[in-house]
Amino acid sequence: MSKLFKRTKILATVGPSVFGEEKLREMVYAGVNGFRLNFSHGTYDERDEQIQIIRKYAAERGKSVAIVQDLQGPKIRLGDIKDNHFDIKTGDEIILDYACKEHDGGNVLPVQYNLAEKVKVGEPVLLFDGKVEGITTEIVSSTAIKIKAENDGFVMSRKGINLPDTDMGGDIITEKDMADIEFGASRDFDYVAMSFIQTAEDINKLRQIMVSYGSTAQIIAKIETKKAVMDDENLEEIVKATDGIMVARGDLAYEAGAEIVPIVQRKLIALCRQYGKLCIVATQMMGSMVDNPRPTRAEVSDVATAVLLGADVVMLSDETANGKYPIETVKEMKKVILYTQENSRIVPLGKEVTGEYKSYDAISQAAVRLAEKIEADLIAVGTRSGATATAIASQRPNIPMISVTSNPRVAGQLALTYANSSYVRPYAEDYAVDLVQELKANGYLKLEEGKKDLTVVFVTGLRDEEGGTNRIEIRKI
Ligand code: PGA
Ligand code: MN
Repeated sequence: MSKLFKRTKILATVGPSVFGEEKLREMVYAGVNGFRLNFSHGTYDERDEQIQIIRKYAAERGKSVAIVQDLQGPKIRLGDIKDNHFDIKTGDEIILDYACKEHDGGNVLPVQYNLAEKVKVGEPVLLFDGKVEGITTEIVSSTAIKIKAENDGFVMSRKGINLPDTDMGGDIITEKDMADIEFGASRDFDYVAMSFIQTAEDINKLRQIMVSYGSTAQIIAKIETKKAVMDDENLEEIVKATDGIMVARGDLAYEAGAEIVPIVQRKLIALCRQYGKLCIVATQMMGSMVDNPRPTRAEVSDVATAVLLGADVVMLSDETANGKYPIETVKEMKKVILYTQENSRIVPLGKEVTGEYKSYDAISQAAVRLAEKIEADLIAVGTRSGATATAIASQRPNIPMISVTSNPRVAGQLALTYANSSYVRPYAEDYAVDLVQELKANGYLKLEEGKKDLTVVFVTGLRDEEGGTNRIEIRKI
């Protein structure tokens, strides 16, 4: 019966390859559990349309999906470059000027961010995703810095700039982000992902802003700066402050070196499991499928590794946003997840789950042990705030879980939670039992051959209130 459900979930980025009703519907049916809307591109009207389509087909399919608003943050880009090409030689001196509006072909390049306010002499400036490295030699004016190129290369219009050693001083939320947060707060987003987080303080600030706009979304901290990962204590503070993290391996590799990424990924997944936070592994998981209908062996192995480490979610970016085979990519990823979870247990944590609330952790630990001991088919949870379901998931059960809540926002958030499928039903004392009966009757819960009923461990509360979870029960359904 457990073969039906992916325990590690799939988050897919929406882009031109899947715009429109038909493709998004296919994505939902192929096994996508959440969609990322990347606010580095696109218009608000497009966002509204995508949200509406995703919600429509998730409802038709009868499952919850998460929608993630991904904020650009201080992603710094060059402006337009004359003829879209500018050659750079080792030793060249280049000026990056926020006030420059048009590139005349010379060595003064327009940039979409005022580097002079943050960058200090001696700090590296990486152009074109690290292809050209420069060292800052002078702050030329209030809007311009001078860098000296360390290698040969070229740049093109609007290519990314990374500042691995620059302290943003807690100032990572841009004017564009502010407008996007305000827009998002009135829309149906389950999560807000914030790019280029450096400290826990960045997350606290974002949370204050979101609360002031009345947002009900949870926060995903994208881990992609050198500052965030160089100090283990800082990393742990970030995990404690946030609701979830994304191992944003693309920018992280540019900023801190590709070689550190696998270790950071392991550390982060372990920290998230310990503290009961959502953990997403992102970028180039199936990168070659942008152009090819099959993944490489290395990519399959990469997805399997994330599953074995116990990540909640594996993410697709360009593969589904701009690739030729978005649906095939989701299907291939799903195959790897299912095979891996059925043929190996995930690595033990080696530490106790600390979680956020002791009582939930205690009851969850007991429920998961019980379910595994009696070889239950399913754990079913009634959850008001999502805390009980999250705590159970933190134990990384080897058994699928179904959670029911009366709050659609909570169900959307739990759509990405390890091992969980979430449903929205009006609160009733036995709504978890009712739901399992309904799903069984509708053929969603297939029985193993020769079996008449499902053994289900129910974790529920007698009251629909926070902290109300107080009952573990075994039932045959
Ligand atoms: P991005 O984040 O795709 O928004 O840049 C992910 C990453 O950097 O890996
Ligand atoms: Mn990034």
